[in-house]
Parts: sequence; C-alpha cells; structure tokens
Amino acid sequence: MTTAAAGVAGAWIDELFSSWQGEGLWLGCRQLFLRFSGCNLRCAYCDTPSALERQPGFRSGAGRRPNPIGVAALLAILEEADLAAHHSVSFTGGEPLLQAECLLPLAAGIKARGGRVYLETNGSLPDALPPLLPHTDFVSMDWKLPSATGADSGCNHAEFLRLCRGKPLQVKVVCAAATGDDEVEAAAAGVAAIGRDIPLVLQPASEPGGGWAVGWGRLAALERICAPHLQEVRIIPQMHRLLNLP
Ligand code: SF4
Repeated sequence: MTTAAAGVAGAWIDELFSSWQGEGLWLGCRQLFLRFSGCNLRCAYCDTPSALERQPGFRSGAGRRPNPIGVAALLAILEEADLAAHHSVSFTGGEPLLQAECLLPLAAGIKARGGRVYLETNGSLPDALPPLLPHTDFVSMDWKLPSATGADSGCNHAEFLRLCRGKPLQVKVVCAAATGDDEVEAAAAGVAAIGRDIPLVLQPASEPGGGWAVGWGRLAALERICAPHLQEVRIIPQMHRLLNLP
C-alpha cells in the first residue's frame, strides 16, 4: 500500500467487474471497470442509475462487498483479477472525480503494479484533476450538452480538456432525440478551441429496450456540423449494449 493511501477514507463503489470497453476509440479493450458511486449531474439519458447515489454494498465479480472499501483492499481485488491481463483499469461512474482523495492512491497503486489507468468522466470537476493526471494514462471526457443536463450545467469542459492536453484523449457527445444542432456545434467549437486534433465521438443514446434514440441520418447530419471544426469526428454506438455485455 502506498504511503499516500494512509489516512484516506474508503471508496464508495457501485460495481467492479472485468469486461470489454464498449464505447469510443478504445472499443474492445479488455478492462477492469471500477464504477464509483455518486454523480453531480443527472443526465436525461443516464444508463447507470444505480451509480447515482451511494449504496451499502457493491457487486464484485460473482459476490457482493460492503461500502466503503479501503484503497488497499481494492488494490488487492484488482491484483487478484489479474491486472496484467487487462488493457487498463477504468475509473468510471457515476463521477469518479467526486472521490478524488481515493483515486490518487488507487491510481498510484495500480501504476506501481504495472497497470494503466483509464479515466471516464463527465468533465465537470477540473479542480479535482491535476493531482491525478500523472497517474492517468487515458482520458475519456463527455461533453455534456444543455439538453442532456436540463440546463447549462456550468461544466467547465474547456478547462478540463486544457488540463488533459498531452494525454491520449477523446471527447464523447451523447446524442439523444432532444439534441440540437447549435449545442453540438458549440461543443465541437469548444473542443477545437483547445485542439483541432482532439478526437470527437458522437454516440447515440441507447434506449432501455435496445436500439438508439437517434437514427443514422441524424447522426450523419451532426457529423457534418462538427467536421469543419475538428480533424477527427467519429460515430460510435455503445457496443456493449449491442452485444449484451456487462
Ligand atoms: S454524468 Fe454519467 S453517471 Fe452522471 S448522470 Fe450523467 S450519464 Fe449518469
């Protein structure tokens, strides 16, 4: 256990499991998913309602464990799950950066064991990011649109992205039925202001019963809106939904 972990309160976890990355540029990479509980946003299309609030316990493999759990115990579980057989450990949620105090010793411990850290975030908490960045290998940031969060969420996505420059990085924009042209163009322009080379992924929102909230024609129209701003715009749906993976 790292010295940094001493005195850190335990982490609140929603689930811990091994699967394949189902979204974005790292699609298909085998990862250990560490889903943190709690989120500061309430997106209309949220597909992880169980992670919005802290629960007394969490799923870990085939069993359940109590919350909160110490960093040393989490590292032991990750090691037992064979870090070396995985591309990386995904910190996801919920919003993992709400538990930044735990993330730092956890990420340092993963790196010390030869693993890599993949941060999936809503990009709303740039102040929590700098200490974690030296221990982070990949960043996947959602650019939250006003139509998704109910209003202007106040997320300083531009500042978050600026901090991440130099890391392998992607920005995802989830496209739902309510998504407007103007807000997507504003997101693309906002990403471009930090770097035209940052890849942007348009991801159709998945519907609870399967299928996408928007069709291919609409996605193609949104792609045409973003393309003049950025060097790389892709349309990638959530593959784990299509394949019925965890
Ligand atoms: S940021 Fe993610 S976890 Fe939080 S409400 Fe939005 S979709 Fe759900």
